Amino acid sequence: MEGKLNCNGCGASYPLDTPYWRCGCGHFLDIEIEAQFPREKILSRPPGMWRYREAIPIGGNVPLVTFGEGFTPMLAIEIAGRTVLVKQEHLFPSGSYKDRGASVLVTQIKHLGISHVVEDSSGNAGAAMATYCANAGIECDIYVPASTSEGKLAQVQAMGARLYKIPGSREDTATAVMAAANIFYYASHTWNPFFFQGTKTFAFEVCEQMGWQAPDAVILAVGNGSLLLGAYMGFSELFKAGIISRLPRLIGVQAANCAPLATAWQENRDDIQASAQQETYAEGIAIRTPLRGKQILEAIRQTRGTLLTVSEPEIRESLEHMCRKGFYIEPTSAATIAGVKKFLEQNFIENQQNLVTVFSGHGLKTGGKIARMLEKHA
Ligand SMILES: *Cc1c(COP(=O)(O)O)cnc(C)c1O
Ligand SMILES: [Zn+2]
Repeated sequence: MEGKLNCNGCGASYPLDTPYWRCGCGHFLDIEIEAQFPREKILSRPPGMWRYREAIPIGGNVPLVTFGEGFTPMLAIEIAGRTVLVKQEHLFPSGSYKDRGASVLVTQIKHLGISHVVEDSSGNAGAAMATYCANAGIECDIYVPASTSEGKLAQVQAMGARLYKIPGSREDTATAVMAAANIFYYASHTWNPFFFQGTKTFAFEVCEQMGWQAPDAVILAVGNGSLLLGAYMGFSELFKAGIISRLPRLIGVQAANCAPLATAWQENRDDIQASAQQETYAEGIAIRTPLRGKQILEAIRQTRGTLLTVSEPEIRESLEHMCRKGFYIEPTSAATIAGVKKFLEQNFIENQQNLVTVFSGHGLKTGGKIARMLEKHA
């Protein structure tokens, strides 16, 4: 597959098949490829994320690390009095859309002949990496904040990954993993550009499921931006290929208790300041200093999108609301739904406009936390 690893910081570029997870200058890398969407080939393959092979920078002969994941259902659900299309991204093998990134990244890691990786995560990315590494026979060390939900920790350990619980904030965990990343390959869902080459398939599926059209707006929770940036890349490639005629507006949702991006957006600043350290139910997006923060703001600006925040009571309420409809999602995903409600309250959205959002993670991962959230209120 043609393509390059590009550095936006110093302008350097590297061949795709090199084991660099960051540039020599220290900046993160991005992948540039000419994505193609041969309709007949796509339709001849099983419904799954790998049916878009010509848009994923993995050579045609490379064996895939896959469970046949993707092509999650997109259901019309009534939220705040209108119909919203909700992609069921909690229905992945490890219980979150992070499997999209893990499938592509671990395929590339295996292809490069790497046998031992490290990753840090607030839970779901670690669970996804542990799952795909188990399948590929790759050793995997996962660093997590000590406060991570038990279900996710059990999942990581059950997959045979080594678990390192780091006291303190999510950033303390990121610092701890950096030392290990000097020795082992850093399979990071924030640094590693191959991860985003997986999450971008979300956009391809949304487009195909809507009859090869783009929605008007896509509303996503955002911390490090692994889904939002993936969606931006995916829709941009569909646009470049002439399949869609405009990009959907990307609407980012943050927990008010940890909202460095939304704060920068409101203050019209490009320098993102670490947010105060406060607990949030939305553990999956509690990122105080997002590595790709500027890139996220730029993606939202480019699509005429916006960023908004949701409070803890709003997250709890949306969790209860979705559960009472039979959707067992994790609290971080409820933050997205609270964001959908707020977006609809604050904006006039014409009836014929298509809104897409996601259930990003499964409730089964966070049973204890959900019980405590709903109990406290009862
Ligand atoms: C990872 C994740 C998100 C998005 O988080 P980013 O930090 O922006 O990648 C949203 N919901 C869930 C459940 C997640 O695991
Ligand atoms: Zn560089």
